[in-house]
Amino acid sequence: MALRRCRNCVLPENYPGLRFDDTGLCNECIAHQRRYVDVDLNGREAALRGILDRYRGRGNGEHDCLVPFSGGKDSSYTLYLLVKKYDMKPLAFNVDNGFANPEAQEFMKEYTTGLGVDLEIYKPPSDLLKRVYRHAMEKTGEFCSACVVLIPNTINRVAWEKGIRLVAGSFCEMTEKPPASMANMDAVRFWNIMKDGFSRNELERDFFFPAWKRLWAIRYIDIPDYIRWDVPEIHRTLAREAGFIKDVSEFRYDCRATPYSNFLFNRIAGYSKMDFLLAGMVRSGFIERSRAIEILSSSDLSLPPPGFPELMEEIGCREDILSETEGRSALDYPGRHSIPRRIAGLLRKALH
Ligand SMILES: [Zn+2]
Repeated sequence: MALRRCRNCVLPENYPGLRFDDTGLCNECIAHQRRYVDVDLNGREAALRGILDRYRGRGNGEHDCLVPFSGGKDSSYTLYLLVKKYDMKPLAFNVDNGFANPEAQEFMKEYTTGLGVDLEIYKPPSDLLKRVYRHAMEKTGEFCSACVVLIPNTINRVAWEKGIRLVAGSFCEMTEKPPASMANMDAVRFWNIMKDGFSRNELERDFFFPAWKRLWAIRYIDIPDYIRWDVPEIHRTLAREAGFIKDVSEFRYDCRATPYSNFLFNRIAGYSKMDFLLAGMVRSGFIERSRAIEILSSSDLSLPPPGFPELMEEIGCREDILSETEGRSALDYPGRHSIPRRIAGLLRKALH
């Protein structure tokens, strides 16, 4: 039988913590109104301007902030705003996780040139990355967790090395927030997954940037927390300014591994990343519910997408990796306790 979905946003009934009211509306939709609609956006933007005023012209003399840049719509738009609207001098910084889409790489170069922004790309050693992905895949049935640790660590390390003290991210909580039970990767859990295949030393540089340096020296903000992140308007702006033509339902085209990670996520969680990403877009009024249903029903997640065996071979996994990892998950490995993590979060807020 088909899964029951929220009458408004398409979240399926097996999404963690989901409840429906008498009319079939889900609790995430009800929370959305309170969290993102009934808010004072003018006050938020004033706060953003205050932060940028404090960092403008600071940093290393060349760049006053670092923008993690994927070539996707969100980070492209963040760069656009920082340069054109807020008069900042960002460094566009990309981490090539080994699955970079050539089309996105090409776009990044053209786009930053057009905007007059410096672009830097960092690629960790390929053989190390492949070993990390293979190990994560064998232990947990997915490999995205490695990237989830690699990218923020690299961003913080490079900001630190370059003397840039503000990182302006583009994560849009309103449309992209994963369920709490899946947003669980931290340095402790990652090490527990990796430690029987690697020395700490091998992973230190790319995966374990010291938390105290980050707390002490780097402020991390996400621009979509401060202004209305109107996705269709962002697409129109980027089409006009840079010839960026993508459908609003195309997510994370910059990573070749996206369809495979979506399949593996669904295998572990019972619902897919597309379920909550599309639900966020529908709830925010950016795409029609019927379109989201159409997209969701057009993909069969019970089977690996075409190209999956080749991708597994690329990272060195054996052919029977799926049967071998049945039932495994990153949650099998202990992570950091939540109380110290909450204190660290508060401390970070107080420091900045
Ligand atoms: Zn809903």
